[in-house]
Amino acid sequence: MPSHLDPVPVPVPAPAPAPGVGASEATAFPPAPGAGAGAGTGTGNKRHPHVQLRALDTLWFQVAGTICNIECTHCFISCSPRNHSHEMMSLADVQRSLDDARGLGVREYYFTGGEPFMNRDMLAILEATLKQGPATVLTNGMLLRPDVCRRLRELFDASEYSLDIRVSLDGFDAESHDAIRGKGVWDRVMIGLRNLADAGVNPVITVTTAAEGVASEEGRARFLDVIRGFGFDRPRLKVLSLFRIGAEENRTRAYEEWERLNAESLSDEEASVLQCSSCRMVTSKGVYVCPILIEEPEARMGATLGETLRPFQLRYGACHTCWVDGVTCRT
Ligand code: SF4
Ligand code: SF4
Repeated sequence: MPSHLDPVPVPVPAPAPAPGVGASEATAFPPAPGAGAGAGTGTGNKRHPHVQLRALDTLWFQVAGTICNIECTHCFISCSPRNHSHEMMSLADVQRSLDDARGLGVREYYFTGGEPFMNRDMLAILEATLKQGPATVLTNGMLLRPDVCRRLRELFDASEYSLDIRVSLDGFDAESHDAIRGKGVWDRVMIGLRNLADAGVNPVITVTTAAEGVASEEGRARFLDVIRGFGFDRPRLKVLSLFRIGAEENRTRAYEEWERLNAESLSDEEASVLQCSSCRMVTSKGVYVCPILIEEPEARMGATLGETLRPFQLRYGACHTCWVDGVTCRT
């Protein structure tokens, strides 16, 4: 099976912090006066710390908006066929931000939704993106038809950058998976995975901790066996934390008040490892701080990337999960 594991060189590196250099010393974009990580200043509740944007490494696109062909019970942005809170993005929409990103030193690009392959421009968007950096698509795997998979393989072969396809599973079998993702979804995903294998594309399988036992060593080993069973001899697995927002808030519970970060307990150096210190999320409604908070009006930092190169106050329950679980949505 051709490898999507091999690292692909990135010819234009963005500024990166020197080893052992804290966030404040490595900042590529100037902090707002008095608003360093851990400063606890800002317009909101003063006890919550700020995170600086030290370098814009990773750019996300909510390319399918909040529109999805299924309706998972744990979806932290409550995507569904009827949710038009954020709309699909066109190739022209994405291209504008790609042009901005080039000048800002972005190293890699991620596409999510909703379901990205519901977007008719998705393959053209990937073709444009792969001219300037590595790309990853997060998909539920249901629309991976043979022709789509063959085209993905062609795009990968034609680019000097990597293309990763991340397919979500939420259980070890149809019963556990479909309890979260809907009846019949497992069978559709199995077809999609086989089509990927036939096209020579080795996906990253992502699984949330909603799948019981997956976070343990034994659970991971079992899941890797499941992936091998699909015909992928070099299995790749990413386990994701759950955020208690959106549909997940109803499935389990909402964040409690104590589940917040405060300025006293988060140092500059600690804040600098949060993904929002190096990413932004572009949606049809503007640019947000990260891929998680797109339904929080105050997490919209501007209309363009250039307006978002400033610190952000970590006042949300989801920020607590990011810190406690060490979450990164990157692969
Ligand atoms: S978790 Fe993914 S596949 Fe499920 S509803 Fe949300 S966006 Fe769609
Ligand atoms: S949810 Fe996570 S990534 Fe988003 S702003 Fe909070 S800490 Fe940063």
